[in-house]
Amino acid sequence: MNSKATPRVVIVGAGFGGLNAAQALARESVSITVIDRKNHHTFQPLLYQVATAGLSPGEIAAPIRSILSHHKNVEVLLAEVTGFGLDRRIVQTPDQEIPYDYLIVAAGATHAYFGHDDWEPYAPGLKTIEDALEIRRRVLLAFELAERQAAAGEISRPLNFVVVGGGATGVELAGTLAEISRHALAHDFRSIDPRRTHILLVEGGTRVLPAYPEDLSRSAEEQLRLLGVEVRTSTMVTRIEPGVVLVGETRLSAAVILWAAGVAASPLGKKLGTPVDRAGRVLVQPDLSLPGHPEVFVIGDLASLKDETGKMLPGVAPVAIQQGRFVAKLIRQELESPPASARRVQATPEIAHRAGFHYWNKGSLATIGRAAAVADFGKIHISGFLAWLAWLFVHILFLIGFRNRLLVFIQWAWSYVTFERGARLITGSTHLPGWTGLAPEAPRPDEEQEIPAAASK
Ligand SMILES: Cc1cc2nc3c(=O)[nH]c(=O)nc-3n(C[C@H](O)[C@H](O)[C@H](O)COP(=O)(O)OP(=O)(O)OC[C@H]3O[C@@H](n4cnc5c(N)ncnc54)[C@H](O)[C@@H]3O)c2cc1C
Repeated sequence: MNSKATPRVVIVGAGFGGLNAAQALARESVSITVIDRKNHHTFQPLLYQVATAGLSPGEIAAPIRSILSHHKNVEVLLAEVTGFGLDRRIVQTPDQEIPYDYLIVAAGATHAYFGHDDWEPYAPGLKTIEDALEIRRRVLLAFELAERQAAAGEISRPLNFVVVGGGATGVELAGTLAEISRHALAHDFRSIDPRRTHILLVEGGTRVLPAYPEDLSRSAEEQLRLLGVEVRTSTMVTRIEPGVVLVGETRLSAAVILWAAGVAASPLGKKLGTPVDRAGRVLVQPDLSLPGHPEVFVIGDLASLKDETGKMLPGVAPVAIQQGRFVAKLIRQELESPPASARRVQATPEIAHRAGFHYWNKGSLATIGRAAAVADFGKIHISGFLAWLAWLFVHILFLIGFRNRLLVFIQWAWSYVTFERGARLITGSTHLPGWTGLAPEAPRPDEEQEIPAAASK
């Protein structure tokens, strides 16, 4: 128990779940400590725009400290949480132990390479601003290296981009890559023709967007094809090497490989010491608390909870947001209820009276590219331009900060009219895996080249 009179709520992670919990609790008489290993909150649904040079990092991320600055009872600590002492009610970081009365763990998810972590250097995933910048670097660099090679009179390798995983992230990455190679970059090179870039989307299941109704999956596949993406479903990637994707025994040459095939819960979930599911998500009670620890909540992508029909809640922002607000409300009610009116948290809060969390699903939207998207509003399914408009509206509305909303709106309006992508900066190394020196590593004779090289004009 915290010795101070004011109860202390510690929130681990300032993503969608943690930030909403903090904001919903901030007006109460509690002392809130938000701990995150990054100094910024990232609007992950727009990461692909940074990865494909449409937006800059500052337009989709904001400092956690400034988002919460007007709440005087909220402190923000930049620190990596390394563990917990649930019996002593402390959160561990490398240099201190932070006591709590209530704990909310919202550490999110990370990439999963299904036991093949060695593939990560050759096929980065998209989860953080750093990931997005690395993908942007590789994509833009591939065009530059192909241009340099062609300008030197060498026969360049096919400019193939392979996206592994046909979920929402894979679909939006593939669609946008096709769009920029056909439009934004089309006239900027002299020795190669970026329009001949080959974008391949590989999905192990039978359809893309498996979480959506079948008609929308079919529509998404069709819209991808219209944008110039080759879609291969029921296709398992068996190995990834520098510049090569193996599908069964077939070797596909790839200038850039992107991983969008799997997510796993943050490893922090296991440190709580209570049961987790196969994806490492913490099995929580209906009120999102930990079994045996009603003062500890796990929310968002890190929590494993089924809805009333027995279906697992999806790892999406609205679930995390609603759970953050739900838990804040529970804590608020308990602090206001008679046993806690003395402003002290009971050693064993009664949870029998707590309501269970209910997810209000307002619909799902996935973008595919310019004027291409799908929207699932229960009985109403929309595809194409209308769905894209809905997607645009929702994503601008939920961006953190008025400045960002305005900037992103202007950027999108500008690039819609001009086809331009303004953030085409290559930063960091000019090395691309599978590409050594001026020439790429020579392809093996058994490598499938997909399409002719991003050929000389
Ligand atoms: C590329 C991409 C696109 C997406 N698109 C959509 C979409 O279009 N629509 C949608 O609804 N959802 C989308 N999602 C999913 C959505 O972003 C997540 O469901 C949501 O972010 C989950 O919120 P969260 O609070 O659980 O975790 P997160 O938002 O991931 O936040 C976790 C926070 O915890 C911090 N953290 C992690 N470990 C530690 C540690 N050890 N110590 C301290 N801090 C730590 C992280 O830095 C981070 O700030 C997308 C996700 C990705 C990656």
